[in-house]
Amino acid sequence: MLHHERLRPPSRDYPADEWNVIEKAFRLEFIAQLETILALGNGYLGMRGCPEEGGPNAENGTFINGFYDTWPIVYGEGAYGFAKMGQTICNVTDSKIVKLFVDDEPFWLPDAHLLKYDRRLNMKSGTLDRDLLWETPAGKQVSITSRRLVSFVDRHVAAISYSVTILDAQASVVISSEMATHEPGVVSDTDDPRLAKGVSGRILHQRAHYSKDRRIVLCHETENSLLKLACATESVLESSCPYSYKTVHTPDFGQVAFTIDARPGSPIQLTKYMIYHTSETASAEELCGRAEWTMDRVVTQGFQKLLVSQEHYMENFWRRSDVQIKDIREERTKRSTVEIQQAIRFNLFHILQASARAEDAGVPAKGLTGRAYEGHYFWDTEIYLLPFLTYTSPRIARNLLAVRYKMLPQARARAKELGHRGAMFPWRTISGEEASAYYAAGTAQYHINADIMYALRKYVQATGDVPFLRDFGAEMLIETARLWADLGFYSDSKGGMFCINGVTGPDEYNAVVNNNAYTNLMARENLRYAGEVIEFLREKEPDAYHALVEKTALQHSEVDAWFRAAENMYVPFSEKLNIILQDDNFLDREPWDFRNTPSDRYPLLLFYHPLNIYRKQVIKQADVILAMFLLGDAFSSEEKKRNFEFYDSFTTGDSSLSSCVEAIIAAQTGQMDKAIRYGMAALLMDLADVGGNVKDGCHIASMGGTWMMLTYGFGGMRDDDGVLSFWPRRAPEENATLRFPLTYHGQRLQVEIGMDRVEYALHEGERLGIRHENEEIELTKANPLVVRPVSRRTI
Ligand code: BGC
Repeated sequence: MLHHERLRPPSRDYPADEWNVIEKAFRLEFIAQLETILALGNGYLGMRGCPEEGGPNAENGTFINGFYDTWPIVYGEGAYGFAKMGQTICNVTDSKIVKLFVDDEPFWLPDAHLLKYDRRLNMKSGTLDRDLLWETPAGKQVSITSRRLVSFVDRHVAAISYSVTILDAQASVVISSEMATHEPGVVSDTDDPRLAKGVSGRILHQRAHYSKDRRIVLCHETENSLLKLACATESVLESSCPYSYKTVHTPDFGQVAFTIDARPGSPIQLTKYMIYHTSETASAEELCGRAEWTMDRVVTQGFQKLLVSQEHYMENFWRRSDVQIKDIREERTKRSTVEIQQAIRFNLFHILQASARAEDAGVPAKGLTGRAYEGHYFWDTEIYLLPFLTYTSPRIARNLLAVRYKMLPQARARAKELGHRGAMFPWRTISGEEASAYYAAGTAQYHINADIMYALRKYVQATGDVPFLRDFGAEMLIETARLWADLGFYSDSKGGMFCINGVTGPDEYNAVVNNNAYTNLMARENLRYAGEVIEFLREKEPDAYHALVEKTALQHSEVDAWFRAAENMYVPFSEKLNIILQDDNFLDREPWDFRNTPSDRYPLLLFYHPLNIYRKQVIKQADVILAMFLLGDAFSSEEKKRNFEFYDSFTTGDSSLSSCVEAIIAAQTGQMDKAIRYGMAALLMDLADVGGNVKDGCHIASMGGTWMMLTYGFGGMRDDDGVLSFWPRRAPEENATLRFPLTYHGQRLQVEIGMDRVEYALHEGERLGIRHENEEIELTKANPLVVRPVSRRTI
C-alpha cells in the first residue's frame, strides 16, 4: 500500500529538465528541502545546498564522511551488552560563505528584489550553478553568477567561482569571503528515531589558526574521538576595477573582505578554493601543512582545470551508469518522460555523491546531505547501493566491501561480547562499533551479516575479482558463517530443522521474532556460500587456503556443519495460505486497523508505541518480498505473485526502502500498474518529498533501489546463477524505451528495451555470454543482438 501523498512543489518554479534540477524562484518555505536536494558531495566531503551568502539556512551543514564524535549513551535502564557509545557525524567548518554588499546594502535573498533567479544542480557537470539579477534598493542592477563544485577528482577540494557585475552604474562593492566553525551540537529531544540525537555543547576544539595573505587555515579537534580537521580557504579576486582587501581570522572564523570600486559592466570575479583534511593520527601542524600542499596545487591549476576534470569525471560516470528513458511516439520528448529521466539521473547522481570518494569510509544512510541517522552506515549500502555500484563503478563497490573487512576485529569482539562465535557486524556504525541504542530494531537485525556476504557474492560474480574474495572475503565468510551456525539450533519442535530465534528482520515493525524468513533465507545463502568458497580455495588456491585455516583456526568439520545447517534451514510456511510466513507468529498477530488509521498517522512509528505496533499484523518495509527479489531463482513467479499480494496489503511503506522493492516484484510478476505506482514513489522519493522528510537528507538506499527497479524490475535482469540474463519487460512509461549500461567482468554491455524489440550491444570488451530468456547468446563488439518479439513472461 502507498500511504504518502506527493508533496511536489509547484512545477512552474521547478521545471523538469533531463540534466538539471532547476529552481526558478526563491521560496523561503522550501529552503530546507532544497538544501538537501541541491547538496554537493563526493563521498568524502559534502555541503548542503545553502546559498553562498551564509543564509538563510534551515540546517546548514558541511560534513566529512567518518568525521564524528562519540558520547556515552545514557539508558534509563541499562542491560548487559547494550551499545555504550553513540557516534554522531560532525557539522564541520562552513567554508563556502561569500557575502555581497553593494553600496553597503547586503544582498540577502529573502529581501532582495530579484529580476532573475535560476539555481540548478547540474548533473552533467557535477556543479551547483546560480544566475541571478538583483535590483538594489537604489535601483542598480547587479548580475551575480556562481558555480560551486565539490571535486570528484581531488577529494579534499571544493571551489566556488563567484562573479558580480554592476550592469548599469558605478557602485561600491564589498565581497566578504568567509569561513566559520560554529558546530552548535545537537541534542534532540525528538521522538523521531530517524533524526540525529547526539552531542551537546561544543565538540570542535580549536588547535591552530593562521592566515597568509588571502589564505586562512583553521584546525580543530573533536572532543572525544580526537579526530582532527584542517580547513583552508584561499580567495582570489580578478577584476579590472580597483580594489583592496583585508584578512581577519580568529580560532573559529576567517574572512577576506574585498572592497571594490565597481565600474558599470566590469565583472568582478572571485574564486574561492576550500580544502579539507582530516586525520586520527597527524598533528595539527602536519594536517595544516597537508591542507596547504593541496591548496598550492589547486590554486596554481585554477578553477577551470577543476571544472574540466569534474566534467570529465561526470562524463565517464554517465557513460558507465546512465539509465535512459526515451519516448518513441513523438519527436519532442514527452513531459512525463522528462520528469522520469530527471528523477532517474537525480537518484544516480546522489548515489555517486554519497559514495564516489568514500574510500576508507562507508556510505551514510543520508550520504553527506544531512545528519539524520547521524552519518551512520547500515545494511542500506550492501543491499541497496552495491548492486548499482557493482555493475557501474566496481572500484567503489570494492572499496565499500573493504571497509567492512576493516571492521572485522570489532565485529569479532562484538560477537564475543554477545556470547557468539564468529563475527557480528554492527547494525549502525561509523567506527565499526555498534552504535544502535535500541537493540530491538538495531542489534537484533542479525541479517546484516548475511547482507554483507550477499553483496560480496554478487560483486565477485559480476567482476570476477577472486583475489578480493581470497584475501578479504573468505575471512568474512568464515566468521559470519560461524555466527549463524552458533546462533541457530536444530529444534525438535520444528521437526529437527535449523531455526534462528530472537532476531529482527528488515521489517522493524515486527521485532525480536523467531524464524524471520528473510533472515533464515539469507543466512542459508551465507552458510552455503561460505562452504563453497572454502572448498574452492582448498582446491584452487591451496596456499591461501592453508593461510586462512591458520589465521581463523578453521576446522573442516565446521564447513560440514555450515552445509548441514543450510540444508536444514527452517523457513516458516503457511500451508493454508500457501505463502512463506514472515516469521513463526506472523499470522497469530491481530490485524492492524488500517481502515481507522488516518493518512496523517503515518509513519506509524511516530504515532504509536512500539509494542502497539509489534503485536499487530503490520509491516514497515518489504521483508519476505525482499528475500524473493534477492534470491529470485529460489521462487517461482507464481510464488512471488502470491506472496506479494498477501504482504502488500500489510506493508505501510513507512520506510523508504520499501517501494522500490515492491515495484521490482510487481514488475517481475507482470503487475505493471502497481510496478509503476511503487516505482514512481521510489523515483520521486526525494524530488517530490514523498516521505515528507527530505529536509533531513536524501534517502540514499531508496535511490539505489530505483536502479534495481529499472534494471531487475522493468529490465528483467537476473544474475542469480552467475550468468547475466534478461527477461525484459518494458520501460516504466508507455511507448518508451529503457536503456542501461552494465559493466560485467570489465566489459560494458548496453541493454535497450523497446516496445517490441530488445537490443544487447557490447560497447567495451571482446566477447560476453549472456542469456535472453532461455536462449544463450554470445555477444561480440561487432555483433549486437536484436531480439523480437519479447515474450514479457513473468519471472
Ligand atoms: C529502515 C532501515 C534502514 C534505516 C536507514 C530505517 O527506517 O527501517 O531498514 O536501514 O532506516 O536507512
